[in-house]
Amino acid sequence: MPIAAKPCNAPGCRGLVYNGGSRCRHCRRAAQRQQDALRGTAHERYGSEHRKLRAQVLLEEAICGICLGPGLDDDVLEHKIPVSRGGLTVRENVRRAHANCNAKKAAREGWHRGKGQP
Ligand SMILES: [Zn+2]
Ligand SMILES: [Zn+2]
Repeated sequence: MPIAAKPCNAPGCRGLVYNGGSRCRHCRRAAQRQQDALRGTAHERYGSEHRKLRAQVLLEEAICGICLGPGLDDDVLEHKIPVSRGGLTVRENVRRAHANCNAKKAAREGWHRGKGQP
C-alpha cells in the first residue's frame, strides 16, 4: 500500500511526513527534546506544583531522607505515603531523597509488581 507523504509543517523544513502528522520525524523529535529540556529530567515530569514543592523541599532539607547522605542536585521528592497508596504530593507527605534511593525504595516496596505505579 503506498503511503501518502506531505511536506513538513515546520518553517524552513523540507522533510516529508509519512504518518499523517503535521511535522516530519526529525522536527517532532526536536520538539520533543525541547519539551524535555523545559520539563526537566524524567522523574520530575509532574507539573509546576510538583516542581515548586520540590524546590521548597530541597531548600528546607539538606540530606536524603532515606540514606541520610548529603543532598545532590538531581534529588527528587520522596512520598512518605506512596502515591500508589493514596499519598498526596503535599509538603507533609514528601521529603528529599536521592533519585537512586527513591528508585530502590520504590522497587523494594513492590511498585513494579503491578500495583499502581508504572
Ligand atoms: Zn520537519
Ligand atoms: Zn540517599
